[in-house]
Amino acid sequence: MRILVNHAPERVKDLERYRTEFEKEGECYKPFPFTGNSVPRGVLALEPYHGGYIKGLIEEVKRLGIDFLSHVMITDLIKEKNAVVGAVGLELETDTILIINAKAVILATGGAGNLYPFTTNPSDVAGDGYALAYKVCAQLSDMEFIQSRVCMIYPKAMRGTPPPADGLVTFGGRFYNGLCERYMRKYYPEKLELVTRDAMAICAQKEIEAGRRSPHGGMFGDLSGVPKEELYKFRKFMKACAGKNFDPTWQPYEWAPGAHHFMGGIVINEKCETGIHGLYAAGEVASGIHGANRLARNA
Ligand SMILES: Cc1cc2nc3c(=O)[nH]c(=O)nc-3n(C[C@H](O)[C@H](O)[C@H](O)COP(=O)(O)OP(=O)(O)OC[C@H]3O[C@@H](n4cnc5c(N)ncnc54)[C@H](O)[C@@H]3O)c2cc1C
Repeated sequence: MRILVNHAPERVKDLERYRTEFEKEGECYKPFPFTGNSVPRGVLALEPYHGGYIKGLIEEVKRLGIDFLSHVMITDLIKEKNAVVGAVGLELETDTILIINAKAVILATGGAGNLYPFTTNPSDVAGDGYALAYKVCAQLSDMEFIQSRVCMIYPKAMRGTPPPADGLVTFGGRFYNGLCERYMRKYYPEKLELVTRDAMAICAQKEIEAGRRSPHGGMFGDLSGVPKEELYKFRKFMKACAGKNFDPTWQPYEWAPGAHHFMGGIVINEKCETGIHGLYAAGEVASGIHGANRLARNA
């Protein structure tokens, strides 16, 4: 965690040097107040949910002339004695099996949201890295620490979409149950919706189980009190809503807790080594950085 915190500002500058674009006011980053953060500290990439952050990384990989295999699904790691020396992959477009020899393999396959029927994760994030590591006897820990977050169930065409910044509660977004009660008053009379994601999910689940559900089985989310300039910062979200003839500036969406982030995973040390020679892990597939409950924006 110390490494993550101390190095994060420099890495953001790296990304910017690689041509990722961030929300700025003049020369300064414009920190965004995310849920559960005591001070605004989220740095927003332009188009954050549509490749905004990785845009710069892709540019840099190209600039360095690193070979890039697209649409290849790694199915196994190759282990000789106690070392990982490569991987087996399936080229999805040609149905060809590839044997890739490597001095080092870095697993960066993300979490496993698609083990659950309801998730914010794209369909390619399904826990492959955990299985690959497990098969070569790397150690996994804290696999029960799974974060849920606000995830849309209505409009139906947007099922699985997380509304921006957990329903923009830090800018006036509100939650109501099926009886149109602002139920967070009951659970957190002072903080209301301004709680961490686990608390949002637990309260909603209690309301759902008590039968106080919205017509599609969840809670209502109301963005009508959010200043329009904040809402329209999330251009892709607003465009997606418009494409479904849904206007979140006055129409409530419905949501339920969806599987979002895996805090557990492959055990690594401060150099991302897994304990198996030649095998490294980074990102959400690795364990131990966020404890049991990642705060929004820390991934
Ligand atoms: C909708 C959404 C919004 C989010 N918002 C935020 C936020 O605002 N702030 C924040 O800090 N975090 C956020 N997160 C969490 C954060 O995006 C993830 O934790 C982070 O992207 C994980 O990065 P990663 O590089 O480890 O893995 P990912 O970005 O998940 O990438 C994993 C990659 O591995 C590939 N892969 C998987 N299996 C295989 C295989 N077998 N072979 C080959 N390739 C494979 C996948 O195709 C994918 O490209 C959000 C997540 C989602 C889903």
